[in-house]
Amino acid sequence: MVTREEKKENEKKIKVDGTEVKVKTPPPRKVRPVYYCQTCNRSFPSQLDLEEHTKIDHGKKMATSA
Ligand SMILES: [Zn+2]
Repeated sequence: MVTREEKKENEKKIKVDGTEVKVKTPPPRKVRPVYYCQTCNRSFPSQLDLEEHTKIDHGKKMATSA
């Protein structure tokens, strides 16, 4: 038999006026790679965004094997 255990890792107890209060803390942010446009140095959160920007703003096609 398996007992399900819920872990609330993003909960934190703080004391407000001597009373314990549970507060939710946001989960740690994941570090995302950032893609830079080599033409104008703008940064984008994903390669797709960079490709779209490159196509739209610079009218270029990324080197892909199509
Ligand atoms: Zn650009």
